[in-house]
Amino acid sequence: MQMLSGMKALVVGVANEHSIAWGCAQAFHAAGAEVALTYLNDKARAWVEPLAQRIGAPLLLPLDVSDDAQMDAVFAEVARTWGRLDVLLHSIAFCPKDDLHGRVVDCSREGFAQAMDISVHSFMRMVKRAEPLMSQGGSCMTVTYYGSTRVVDQYNVMGPVKAALEAVTRELATELGAQGIRVNALSPGPLKTRAASGIDHFDELMHLAAERAPTHQLTTIEEVGAYATFLASPGARNVTGTVPIIDGGFHITS
Ligand code: NAD
Repeated sequence: MQMLSGMKALVVGVANEHSIAWGCAQAFHAAGAEVALTYLNDKARAWVEPLAQRIGAPLLLPLDVSDDAQMDAVFAEVARTWGRLDVLLHSIAFCPKDDLHGRVVDCSREGFAQAMDISVHSFMRMVKRAEPLMSQGGSCMTVTYYGSTRVVDQYNVMGPVKAALEAVTRELATELGAQGIRVNALSPGPLKTRAASGIDHFDELMHLAAERAPTHQLTTIEEVGAYATFLASPGARNVTGTVPIIDGGFHITS
């Protein structure tokens, strides 16, 4: 029997085949889950649709998380199609360019609020909507980064944003644990994705990660997918509130 046999998974955050969410969606599918995908807007749809076809996704829906009606529609469609949800992956982040590239002390009120809303509160909104569909328990995951606890050059205001995301993960894990709903935040090392291209000098960060990590290997989306599959599986039924770091051991180096 496959690890996620018969499970229903909603994956939010596929932009293209380099996305961490795509690595997870493929891994969930390979492990026996049915996977629903969303796309940000019509422009993104052109990239996501062929990927959805590759994994036979029964649902492909538009979702800009700043639009509550769209989010309601996604969960309503999941409820109508499956009647339940076993796995939720939130793999999205956003910060306006000027605020991302500037000093944290200069971050605008509006930019900070938007970064927190899209990157953190949207996870809370999704888990809230997933809760009634997870009456038999479930696994909710988000994606964070090491810049939450250490100052990483150029990561700037996304450090505090990811710190909030990890704190939210612990709170939600505590609130929902008795219902068998687990909440974890995967923390991969740097990966060359569209979101990462918005961070200044990202190539240097990748170079440093490979050089310093004990394995000297950069993280891949397949490795994140493998870990996410474990967290989604019954084997991880007592694992919640964690932030597993998938970075070749970079975080233990000084
Ligand atoms: P990506 O660009 O492939 O994915 C980011 C996704 O966020 C895209 O699909 C985009 O459409 C989505 N998004 C942005 N605003 C949205 C909105 N308003 N509504 C709905 N979706 C929206 O890049 P990625 O690197 O795969 O990013 C996924 C997650 O992984 C992010 O949370 C990112 O911070 C995190 N992460 C990335 C790295 C890395 O090095 N790439 C490392 C650690 C953590």
